[in-house]
Amino acid sequence: MAKRKIALFGGTFDPVHLGHTTVAADAAEHIGAEKIIFILAKRSPLKGFPPKANDSHRLKMTALAIAEQKSFEVSDCELKKPAPSYTLETVKQFQTEYGSDTLIHWLVGADSIDDLTYWHQIVELIDVCILTTMYRADFEPPNFAKFEALWGPQRIEKLQQNVIQTPLIDISSTEIRDRLAAGRDVTDMLHPAVADYIRKHGLYQSKK
Ligand code: ATP
Repeated sequence: MAKRKIALFGGTFDPVHLGHTTVAADAAEHIGAEKIIFILAKRSPLKGFPPKANDSHRLKMTALAIAEQKSFEVSDCELKKPAPSYTLETVKQFQTEYGSDTLIHWLVGADSIDDLTYWHQIVELIDVCILTTMYRADFEPPNFAKFEALWGPQRIEKLQQNVIQTPLIDISSTEIRDRLAAGRDVTDMLHPAVADYIRKHGLYQSKK
């Protein structure tokens, strides 16, 4: 019998934008995942600065962005742990919760590929879940060949087989924060409910 599949999508989501929800929906359909869970990171160990919006705002914005999508969920499991939290621990937690009949995909955008060598216990992570890479505007299509000496040919094949040609959506949270700090419009980059939330709470109004 085919295994159940779920997709986990980690990020700081500061704020969550239409790039995130569009590629996640496309990837979930491609995978045949019954649900996709957005997992808010307390902070990214690889970004040199903490998120600008606090945990509660980021969680609420993500919940608003996915509210109309039946198969989307949001999880605060990493927010509840003392930082830093590691993807491998999160994957293991979900594997225990869902059981061995469920295949877990962990989604990342193509911009994250070069960072993967710095991820905590990356080799074990590649082995225990299906690390699934999505295309991203302004980045080369994912290619893992350069890591072959490091991770071995079988892992490279597994990674390469799980590249999904998601639509190129040229949006980033950085650009949204910069535009908001400059008083510019961002409505075409955000779910309307997220744009309202940002306005109501005066988020991202300054560069600092
Ligand atoms: P920032 O600009 O603050 O770095 P971001 O827009 O990259 O933020 P994150 O919350 O860091 O958003 O991203 C979470 C995940 O979503 C990462 O794996 C990232 O590669 C992926 N991602 C973000 N935006 C896109 C996009 N437009 N297309 C494809 N993947 C994306």
